[in-house]
Amino acid sequence: MSEEGRDGDANGDRDDHAPEAGTLYDQARWTDDGEYEPLLAEKDSTVVEIGEDSPLPDDLTRDSLELPGLAEPELARHYTRLSGMNYGVDSGPFPLGSCTMKYNPKFTERAAADPNAAVHPDRSAGSVQGTLELQATLQDYLGRIGGMDAVTLQPPAGAAGEFTGIRIAAAYHEANGEDRTDVIIPDSAHGTNFATAAMAGFDVVELPSAEDGRVDLDALEAAVGEDTAALMLTNPNTLGLFERDIEEIAGIVHDAGGLLYYDGANLNALLGRARPGDMGFDVMHYNVHKTFATPHGGGGPGAGPVGVTEELAEFLPTPHVRQQGDGSGYERYEPARSIGKVHGFSGNWPVLVRAFAYIARLGDAGLADASAKAVLNANYLASQIDYEVPYGPFHHEFVASAGEQDAADAAKRMLDYGVHPPTTKWPEIVDEALMTEPTEAENKGSLDDLAAAFDAVAAEDDATLEAAPERTAARRIDQVAAAREPRLSWHALED
Ligand SMILES: *Cc1c(COP(=O)(O)O)cnc(C)c1O
Repeated sequence: MSEEGRDGDANGDRDDHAPEAGTLYDQARWTDDGEYEPLLAEKDSTVVEIGEDSPLPDDLTRDSLELPGLAEPELARHYTRLSGMNYGVDSGPFPLGSCTMKYNPKFTERAAADPNAAVHPDRSAGSVQGTLELQATLQDYLGRIGGMDAVTLQPPAGAAGEFTGIRIAAAYHEANGEDRTDVIIPDSAHGTNFATAAMAGFDVVELPSAEDGRVDLDALEAAVGEDTAALMLTNPNTLGLFERDIEEIAGIVHDAGGLLYYDGANLNALLGRARPGDMGFDVMHYNVHKTFATPHGGGGPGAGPVGVTEELAEFLPTPHVRQQGDGSGYERYEPARSIGKVHGFSGNWPVLVRAFAYIARLGDAGLADASAKAVLNANYLASQIDYEVPYGPFHHEFVASAGEQDAADAAKRMLDYGVHPPTTKWPEIVDEALMTEPTEAENKGSLDDLAAAFDAVAAEDDATLEAAPERTAARRIDQVAAAREPRLSWHALED
């Protein structure tokens, strides 16, 4: 990138040592053969004798243990090196569309690490009033943000929130003596929506998108009926497009006696500006690890609180938290027709403490500012790249097309330019989709770096893309085996 391009950087001059945008970089590798950082056990293995005087039964104890005999500096350097072989939101931009990989501010880590936040969930309500107050306050914050009347914090992920919400919808119809079998889902929806409906015992009715990438009202009219339990929708949708006809959509589903489920993954586009509850949604989940900057990754722990309208509140999971009628304190209780438990206690608490800290620090104005910048950043980045962006105008994310290139190969090649690639090959209504969401956390310089990486890759040939990544610590991995047969113990290396 030219020096000129960096002048507009709101954060002042960039580091002189930063690699030139759009140029190849090398990820850290620490061994002579460039293979991998040795395991601690490979660096040193010491047999430690264990004393005989254990109070535990003999068959539960051992006499010796093989441990790495390393001093603190060796340990610290090992983990620092490993972190240099990885890429995360602390390393650079992470525009993984739909996932909303925002930077996780450090103050939220401090809040979660506060010893007062670490109370045993089995403690009596009387002895953890502060914790219950925080839970009730977070329920209230989330309810106000989503336009919902009641919120449970219990589900441990967005997908678990979907399952909770759809089970609540099922319980509601059942309580009304209705047997409704169908859940309608647009073809652009996230895979978890389809899985949720099927796991909850519903038949999935897939709704084709209209030409403009939005819900096709005629197709919706044709799909709804007395079998409709719910329509699951995210708004803006996974193309980043706002469903302008949302009130009409809600009318069609409600007139047929169905409920509207809001997939909250894209709430970052609306935060502080528009509320699913006001659009007619009856039940929604919040992905706090997307919208409220709590960490993702490694498969969890996450949190997927669920909000509902007044009508559905009695079906929420148990225990729920509320202020006591006389205002004297907070209590746990079981809602009248609760669907039961979907997770232990009140959910993954430290993640929720981080979400609380984030919302409390930003406040109404800060949340509205975050969504404005998220939308501005997506639109700026889209305007800077050479790849075609077929649908628009969009909000917090856009889906570019890699055109003649294979999107997955192009994504691998972006790693060689030192940035994380976008989500690929989804939604399927765009050929070779590159679903891109820069988030509000990036400044102009960082967006320009990203654009330079996109453009460098757009200009490359297939052979180069197929050989990528060449400059990362780990090259192409077997993604299917990594997902289906993960071997998470270092013993795997012994084979
Ligand atoms: C991330 C995502 C989900 C699932 O959320 P998890 O927290 O990952 O379980 C559902 N729908 C959409 C559109 C998503 O992006």
